[in-house]
Amino acid sequence: MILLTFPKSNILELLRELIRIPSVNPTLAPEEGHNEVKIAEFVVDWLRKHNVDARIEFVEPGRPNVFAEVGDGEGPTLCLCAHLDTVGTAGMEIDPFDPKIEGNRVYGRGSCDMKAGVAAIMSTAASLAAAGSIKGKVILALVCDEEYASIGADHFVLHHKADACILTEPSDLKMVVAHKGFLWGKVTTTGRSAHGSRWDLGDSAISKMGNVIVGLDNLDKNVLRNRREGLVGPASMHVSLISGGIGVSTYAPDCTIHIERRTLPSENTDDVKSEIERVIQNIAKDSHIDWYFKRDSFSCAPNESIIQHVTASYKSLLGSVPESVGWGGWTDAAIFQQAGIPTINIGASGFGLHEPVEWIDFETVLINTNILINAATTFLQDKKVAKEV
Ligand SMILES: [Zn+2]
Repeated sequence: MILLTFPKSNILELLRELIRIPSVNPTLAPEEGHNEVKIAEFVVDWLRKHNVDARIEFVEPGRPNVFAEVGDGEGPTLCLCAHLDTVGTAGMEIDPFDPKIEGNRVYGRGSCDMKAGVAAIMSTAASLAAAGSIKGKVILALVCDEEYASIGADHFVLHHKADACILTEPSDLKMVVAHKGFLWGKVTTTGRSAHGSRWDLGDSAISKMGNVIVGLDNLDKNVLRNRREGLVGPASMHVSLISGGIGVSTYAPDCTIHIERRTLPSENTDDVKSEIERVIQNIAKDSHIDWYFKRDSFSCAPNESIIQHVTASYKSLLGSVPESVGWGGWTDAAIFQQAGIPTINIGASGFGLHEPVEWIDFETVLINTNILINAATTFLQDKKVAKEV
């Protein structure tokens, strides 16, 4: 079994250095505007020093992914993926970029989400390079923009192929094999503008929208929440934004809401849309809905070899099998799975994603790294995967 080939203090220092370099997503927090290029350059430099081929691939000007690879390519390809960007620092109660250590905990913005995962996959590649003579290939996808529109992962799967992918979002060392998707829509109702006294002429778009909201709420509570699926739980939806009207003494000519529908792996997007459209049309015939953004759900089939290799690796290190779980939230796993790459997620334990205090349990980062090294080694030797290539 190949394990970490360098002292754990080196990984700790790597993690702290990654936290010290701000990589706040520039779209999410433009006022912070930190340059993601700097962290990408650091990552490339560190990997090259550890005998891993690495380079920056620009997705857009100023928005870099890092691509890295180790191995001879004569066998399967395993992709390890983590995102380099973080959310902003507004409201943080700790110094976001001066990573303090308390016991096993390392604090800082991005410590948990997910520079620990970045450190784990970088250390995995470095350990495999140090072990030498790797058949097949491990490629790293260190992507930008997961916290906003995932332009990094979208770009990566267009340019690189793999036989399987492991993400390292924090998961308490549980194996995430499914998660929900989501769909965003904008609903508009139209009324007739009139002086506030002219009940005989006016027609309030806001009143119509009130009925639409009640209808959607009923759909959510009485239908969607009963539609439960395996590991990910029930479907759901909610009204997240509302605006309308032009003055306190004028009948409102229009009203707009935004809705978010969280979708299950088994659901078909067209069916999901028409179910909501039917409810709205039955209540307000002249309403309009514009579906403007969607992200697919994700589910990895239980017989995929990546699941077997991660399970065996976990068992050989910890003596039991990992718990398989599903998530409500969305990750880049869906993009890899959608590109035809069987994908799972396994990451370290931590707390405070997008919160005022964020930390990662460093011991679990080490365990996570060893799980990855061991799983990568056996996956690359898997003749079955090699044959499917
Ligand atoms: Zn994340």
